[in-house]
Amino acid sequence: MISLHSSEFSKNTLDQLLIPAERVAHVQIGNSLEHALLVLTKTGYTAVPVLDAAYKLHGLISTPLILDHITGIERIQFEHLDQSKVEHVMKKEIPRIHTNGHFQKALSLLVDHPFICVEDQDGFFIGIITRRALLKQLQKNIRLINET
Ligand code: AMP
Repeated sequence: MISLHSSEFSKNTLDQLLIPAERVAHVQIGNSLEHALLVLTKTGYTAVPVLDAAYKLHGLISTPLILDHITGIERIQFEHLDQSKVEHVMKKEIPRIHTNGHFQKALSLLVDHPFICVEDQDGFFIGIITRRALLKQLQKNIRLINET
């Protein structure tokens, strides 16, 4: 069995795992659901952050949320795509940590979520950390341990 001391792994700071804001696809408050669906479909991401013009983080919008919103009892209401705004449909309770947040908190959030948002103390969006980035780092560390 491989033993991996947690402090060893924690040395890889959250900063190293961060995908910075400028490389994160996002939509803005005021955007229509149609715009969000285009962004989600063309990027291939299941969910993206919703920011305001000042880059403050407000929530997450996802394809399932949009589809659920436009699906009526008898028909899909395509007209809602350009009538509704992302802020009315987005999820506001989202996995997020602060820039100086604890590694353990990021780790436990990533068990249940494919990515978490990172914000500064004033709520400005800094970037995301994905479960994939964390697992890749873990894989590297395990390989190093096996080689020594
Ligand atoms: P991945 O681990 O790369 O498969 O990403 C998992 C999820 O994180 C994606 O489905 C997106 O919701 C989000 N994500 C990853 N990278 C980005 C990015 N550059 N921009 C926006 N969302 C992203």
